[in-house]
Amino acid sequence: MTLLLDVELPEGRCDVRVDGRLVVEVGQLSRAAGEEAVNGNGGALLPGLHDHHLHLLATAAASASVDVRDGLGPLASAGEGWLRAVGWSGDGDRHVLDAVQRRRPVRVQHGSGALWVLNTEAIGLLQLDRSDHPGVERDAHGQPTGRLWRADALLGELLGRETPDLAGLGLRLAQLGVTGVTDATPALEPGAVRLLRASVPQKLQLLGDAVGTGPRKIVIADHALPSYPELVAQLRDIRPRAAAIHCVTREALILLLAAMEEVGTILGDRIEHAAVIPEELLGHLPTVVTQPGFLTCHGDRYRAEVSDDDLPDLYRYRSVLQAGGHVVPSSDAPYGPIDPWQVLRAARDRRAASGAVLSRFERVPVRVALDGMLRPLADLTAPARAVVGGAVADLVLLHVPRDEALDHPEADNVRCTWIDGGLVHGDPG
Ligand SMILES: [Zn+2]
Repeated sequence: MTLLLDVELPEGRCDVRVDGRLVVEVGQLSRAAGEEAVNGNGGALLPGLHDHHLHLLATAAASASVDVRDGLGPLASAGEGWLRAVGWSGDGDRHVLDAVQRRRPVRVQHGSGALWVLNTEAIGLLQLDRSDHPGVERDAHGQPTGRLWRADALLGELLGRETPDLAGLGLRLAQLGVTGVTDATPALEPGAVRLLRASVPQKLQLLGDAVGTGPRKIVIADHALPSYPELVAQLRDIRPRAAAIHCVTREALILLLAAMEEVGTILGDRIEHAAVIPEELLGHLPTVVTQPGFLTCHGDRYRAEVSDDDLPDLYRYRSVLQAGGHVVPSSDAPYGPIDPWQVLRAARDRRAASGAVLSRFERVPVRVALDGMLRPLADLTAPARAVVGGAVADLVLLHVPRDEALDHPEADNVRCTWIDGGLVHGDPG
């Protein structure tokens, strides 16, 4: 048993007793003989945060990589062996990489995810000149340019499977106060499902698990829409499971809503991203799982590249709520910032790196976005979880009271995290 003394709940300061995996008592409590006690000093005690859309394996892999979002400079590093880099938005072939790193083999993933670029050393090691893979781009002389299109499987085959540091990722999430996540990777092999369940302490909902009972991921490709009958058939195929549909463009959303009307929506249906929502469709949407963090890291690019028609409709939040819909925030890590507190700030500010604000009207208070993070993984329309007797002890203790955390949502505020009553982060002493 653990007694959390002097913690702050919405109803005021009190004590909370945890026994096994449950919260068993809330009130003015006294310490039982032999009971472990943690003094909260008036810090807020929250239910653990939920990230409703991320990609665990890709995030773990990305954290083992060099980040080249701001340029290829980090590739010049000394050391030995393969260099893996992610987030490149530049353009170029092996010569561009050779100019920065000639000695070590290098592979750089383009930010789009569809393209890898390798330097000459890497091409030689993998003997790509002998490959007949259609994704190996060649120059006029038949030599590989270093650009590999949609060749993840080929690279996996040639390089062997790397085991990503999932335990390290689980710990990092615990440090951020995250006790449950929905992995949104479309298709997970049974081995990957077992690996994820065995490696991270967080509660998991896996949209790509072919044998699960939760929502199942469907991807509507951003630039190659399925036909209407195809989409209807896909939706019918996954029933009785709910659908979690990746939907980014205006056209995709219109097609999807028509198909869902024909098939019928059920509890648990959700739209991933809904990046562009035309005003006339507000009020007709299943639950939207949005990513305010994209506004922070891609906001300036959106302002430069997204059409004037789409810009006001981008990553809507408040207007969906006002129309009576449900919206919950998520990170989409590794493609957006994984820190939920940064996501809360992004939902409140909608500010790009340059300081420009995107669709001011769509801003929501931190309290509203936090409410979304506290909803159960399996039912995004249910009320936020609360610290009450009988609740599962997935808990986050903050250094500060709730109001201060709402004013300054920062990861540094997290002091301890428990999952199923077990301490997974922090020093309770
Ligand atoms: Zn995603």
